[in-house]
Amino acid sequence: MAATGTTCENDAVAVLSRRAVLIAGALAVSAPVHPANALDGPGQDRDQGDLTDLERTDRTQLLAVVTKSEPLQPEDYVPPDLTSWRADPYELRAEVVYWLEQLFSAADEDDIGLRVISGYRSYETQAGTYDYWVRHHGQASADASSARPGHSEHQTGLAVDLDSARGGCYLDACFGETSEGRWVAEQAYRFGFVLSYPLGYRERTGYTYEPWHLRYVGPQVAGQMHDLEVVLLQDYLSPHLYSARLGSLLGLRD
Ligand SMILES: [Zn+2]
Repeated sequence: MAATGTTCENDAVAVLSRRAVLIAGALAVSAPVHPANALDGPGQDRDQGDLTDLERTDRTQLLAVVTKSEPLQPEDYVPPDLTSWRADPYELRAEVVYWLEQLFSAADEDDIGLRVISGYRSYETQAGTYDYWVRHHGQASADASSARPGHSEHQTGLAVDLDSARGGCYLDACFGETSEGRWVAEQAYRFGFVLSYPLGYRERTGYTYEPWHLRYVGPQVAGQMHDLEVVLLQDYLSPHLYSARLGSLLGLRD
């Protein structure tokens, strides 16, 4: 009967809702964990009590989707905790530096040599970079390769460009074919990073393939994106994927 079916569905929804609330509660009361004290293992092995500082306190910026059509909020945003990367002339948010160090250590153990070739870029710097591209390569080329000021992931302090320590594929798609590029593509999620501009997603991202460009989203989200095989952060955050993600958390999905 229709009425019975409706009741069952309502019961099922109610059960799901209660479980969702329990999960949300568990996430909300997670114990504070500074990255320096956090676990040792890959993101997907961590329990909900192992959230990092940014995962607990700054999810809005941590998971901010920044694209050609969606600027940072505010557009002249400056990260509050910029920290130097080693002795290099690059800065990233403090937690990103911590996890990038973990990534570099793991790479080193696998005889993978990496180096940072870009980090935080200010609104003003990005304006200069974009203008340079427009003047030298034209508007279309500039928009395919560079971001307008206020629209660059590098302005979040969460994005970093890498290259092989050996060089040879500096800001070139061939980096993705090197042993270093392949290692990064396979392992970065364990340290909270995703590739923002993967191969085959130009129509979605507006950018050509950039195997060197990593975006930090935190080990929790990067691990879940890996497990759910979600490539783009905007898809992970979409309402449709949210349902699938919730199903996964509830054990309703393999
Ligand atoms: Zn980049």
